[in-house]
Amino acid sequence: SGAEAIHELIAGQAERRPGAPAIITDAGEEHDYAGYAAAVREAAELLGGRGLGPGDRLLIVAENAFETAVLIFAASALGAVAVPVNARMTSGELARIEAHCAPRLVAYTCGASQEAQAHGDTAGAARLETGFGPLALAAPPSAQAPAAMVPGADVAVLLYTTGTTGDPKGVMLTHGNLLFAGAASARLRDLVPGDVIYGALPLTHVFGLASMLMASASSGAAVQLEARFTPERLLAALRAGVTVFPAVPQMHALLMKHTAELGMDRLDGAALRYVSSGAAPLDPAWKRKAEAFYGLPLQNGYGMTESTAGTCGTRNPIGTADTSVGRPLEGIEVRIDAPDAEGVGEIVTRGPHVMKGYYLNSAETARVLSADGWLRTGDLGRIDADGCLHVVGRCKELIIRSGFNVYPPEVEAAINAHPAVVQCAVVGRRVEGGNEEVLAFAQCTAPGAADEDMLKAFAAEHLSSYKRPSRILVVDRLPAAATGKILKHRLLGTFAAQLDASPKGD
Ligand code: ATP
Ligand code: MG
Repeated sequence: SGAEAIHELIAGQAERRPGAPAIITDAGEEHDYAGYAAAVREAAELLGGRGLGPGDRLLIVAENAFETAVLIFAASALGAVAVPVNARMTSGELARIEAHCAPRLVAYTCGASQEAQAHGDTAGAARLETGFGPLALAAPPSAQAPAAMVPGADVAVLLYTTGTTGDPKGVMLTHGNLLFAGAASARLRDLVPGDVIYGALPLTHVFGLASMLMASASSGAAVQLEARFTPERLLAALRAGVTVFPAVPQMHALLMKHTAELGMDRLDGAALRYVSSGAAPLDPAWKRKAEAFYGLPLQNGYGMTESTAGTCGTRNPIGTADTSVGRPLEGIEVRIDAPDAEGVGEIVTRGPHVMKGYYLNSAETARVLSADGWLRTGDLGRIDADGCLHVVGRCKELIIRSGFNVYPPEVEAAINAHPAVVQCAVVGRRVEGGNEEVLAFAQCTAPGAADEDMLKAFAAEHLSSYKRPSRILVVDRLPAAATGKILKHRLLGTFAAQLDASPKGD
């Protein structure tokens, strides 16, 4: 497309197809590309007038609203850096990110302002009725960042990681990263104008940013934004004509549970033609169930914030047993570092999708980025004879039990196969003697649908003894991020009391 900055994509689409739908809000409001481009110009003028300039951070406390999309591109038009964060964060999480990125301005997009107000965060914010929607703008009380902390002219977005394994890290994504990711995502899904992408992934997560916002801007397709994911709304949208559905596996699991309750085993007559799963391990049992339901293959994609989402993606026919994440996307290299006897080692990747670095964290940047451009993903995987990548777990989450490697996703898959389980998470815990035990936390379809003994007996049928969890706690809810990804590092703390109680409660 020849674009050098992400906002140029919107301007380009507005020239080519001004009347084509670009963003459809969850209230059913439709914005075409001409209106989108005009809104970006208006927002840039407004923000520029408030002093936002090159290198400045614009913190966007965001929901999946039209205004969020507009602000991300408006920051680009000013040479500023958009920092979209989820409005449903706690005020403590938000304060940490605000202190770290030192924004010049904070914008709260419509619904988000209500959320933020509840936290008392908008004190001093000016509430504005703009041509592109309601907006609250505030200058943060904190001192402005010194010039040396400016991230660099090529950085478009500063995006914080999910925080699955620890505190979220600020990832600097360049215009080049995002332009590449949008084009790659559009190519993988064969997007064309007229396609409607279901937009339930948060715009504040790399997967939503790449597969919804950048993919549509790159191809001229539309995004139907969803501010609050529910399986009911998803089902309605699928019936109403969305054609492409990028999702995290938890969304498929919740839809399967909902449609099972409705006694519905197939989605008939929908316009859906591409459905994917990414951002977390795809369970083989869910894959089969979901494919039977959609009547389409469930395409697995692998990526991370540091790789601007897509690294690998499948394009399989329906019903293959394949649980790989496919081959590297065009222009991307993927290798396995220091493979063991089974070929499993750390996944490393190189190409135009690799981030510039972590913001204000040169030590961690130097640890994961090599001088010749390779990114250490922190994930374990192997590459099969067809060149497809299999992600087997995370380096940090590998459990070593009596000298044997236990990969949590494999244990999770065995427990998820139980019909009463909606989702589960497996972690290791150090026990005396330096060994580790395997612990599982399972969320069930209904209270009393399964108990620990039933699930342990079930898991034992499918797992060799060293992989079997010593505990499978049945819990009401697993701590999750906005995407639905389970926050594993919180599990032991959250359920400490339940873990300490003996299994039989005596
Ligand atoms: P943090 O880095 O803050 O601990 P996070 O790694 O979960 O959080 P993200 O960037 O949202 O933050 O997620 C990327 C990670 O998600 C990958 O490193 C990988 O572990 C996992 N992942 C992504 N896609 C897949 C997939 N298709 N299969 C298995 N795991 C996946
Ligand atoms: Mg990570």
